[in-house]
Amino acid sequence: MTIGIIPAITTAAYIIAALLFILSLAGLSKHETSRSGLTYGIVGMGIALIATIALALDDMSALADKWLPITLLFAAMAIGAAIGFWRAKIVEMTGMPELIALLHSFVGIAAVLIGWNGALRGFHGDAGPGDLRTLTNVHEAEIAIGIFIGAVTFTGSIVANLKLSGRMKSSPLMLPGKNFINIGALLVFAVLTVLYVSTDGHSGAKPWILLAAITVIALLLGWHLVASIGGGDMPVVVSMLNSYSGWAAAASGFLLGNDLLIVTGALVGSSGAYLSYIMCKAMNRSFLSVIAGGFGIEAGPAADTDYGEHREIQADAVAELLSGAKSVVITPGYGMAVAQAQYPVADLTSKLRAKGVDVRFGIHPVAGRLPGHMNVLLAEAKVPYDIVLEMDEINDDFPDTDVVLVIGANDTVNPAAAEDPSSPIAGMPVLEVWNAKDVVVFKRSMAAGYAGVQNPLFFRDNTQMLFGDAKDRVEDIIAALGH
Ligand code: NDP
Repeated sequence: MTIGIIPAITTAAYIIAALLFILSLAGLSKHETSRSGLTYGIVGMGIALIATIALALDDMSALADKWLPITLLFAAMAIGAAIGFWRAKIVEMTGMPELIALLHSFVGIAAVLIGWNGALRGFHGDAGPGDLRTLTNVHEAEIAIGIFIGAVTFTGSIVANLKLSGRMKSSPLMLPGKNFINIGALLVFAVLTVLYVSTDGHSGAKPWILLAAITVIALLLGWHLVASIGGGDMPVVVSMLNSYSGWAAAASGFLLGNDLLIVTGALVGSSGAYLSYIMCKAMNRSFLSVIAGGFGIEAGPAADTDYGEHREIQADAVAELLSGAKSVVITPGYGMAVAQAQYPVADLTSKLRAKGVDVRFGIHPVAGRLPGHMNVLLAEAKVPYDIVLEMDEINDDFPDTDVVLVIGANDTVNPAAAEDPSSPIAGMPVLEVWNAKDVVVFKRSMAAGYAGVQNPLFFRDNTQMLFGDAKDRVEDIIAALGH
């Protein structure tokens, strides 16, 4: 059997693209190499796209009327590329996680459609004796599994998008017997898949009813899994859905017989799973409990406890406090991103350092709304890397710190996580800012953070609140510090 020139070149191109994707992941794992990592990824995807289009055109060359499919192919690509380019250009950094969640939902729905397409193309029941029947069974199992993973990813990602954009409550949905619902749905899926694979023949409605039932159950399960997860655990959910979208793509790769899609899907699936594992460890959460939709997490009520009165401070008094300080730690959070306060924060930092104050940053692993969100913002504002420390590197230094500036952070500095076992964020390691001599919290109101939990830090004796937009307040402090 001879292989045509296009398929042969495509196979070589796929291998090169797969290698570039591996190099891309390796590059993206470090600050210094992240730009080249991104470039490898873009080049790899470019090669993959050209090779896949070439293969599709080669396949179509046998068709009598090939213009309609070719026109459709390019029209779909042009529309998709235009929308993608436009969205990526206008998205704010703070809107990135919800956009990513939405993109994951596209991978999910694509896997569902590819699965249904595979079934409609008539493989189902194309039984023959022996090997052929076995192959058909494998194909049918791929269809059912691909549709299942895709549908879970689709609705799960939609819920994640709604929660991250604030259009759905971030508190966990606590249906009675939620763990049984999840396990029950998995069992029903397994039974339906066995029935689907073992159904013979094209005729009759049975295989289609089974496939429809699998799709509906998976759609409901995806919705329930993510709805059951509380706000504080959303970072893990985002990386977990990233992983699911990889497995959905790999399942589609099997169905389409596309090796690169299998490799890429597996890379995304396993790296997403590993990232979820690292984040779970950082947040002291059980990996299994989070991927199973909050299994075993019994969140307590969002505390309405009366913590007493808070104290307010003004910008000029903060400037005075900072002028008299030897060591200052800044712990930024989501509010710094919303206010785009990183630039004045960088100015304030260099001003204080010029006056001989030791200024460092303490970064919580889930501060903001994206892994590494704060690091990206601070790098953008040219804050030197060597004064930006991870939570574990700085937590022991708070007792020797004069002033902590909490700029738009809330959940990540909440002492309830460490001290109140009934808190929904109990057990999550936090920046222990309250051990410093003075703490100034920059925010606009007394509102709770993303997890919806009140923060007792705001009512401590050594804490003062500086109300207003973080950018404006930091600029006021810079002005009060003078030249
Ligand atoms: P939080 O979301 O807990 O709190 C942010 C605070 O910033 C709010 O209390 C808000 O208070 C304040 N704020 C908002 N806008 C401004 C502004 N313009 N100026 C001043 N303050 C402002 O932030 P954290 O970073 O501490 O915690 C991150 C949370 O997000 C965690 O619960 C984490 O689990 C979750 N999460 C993280 C993801 C990640 O990958 N990093 C992904 C998904 C969720 P006010 O409204 O009163 O101003």
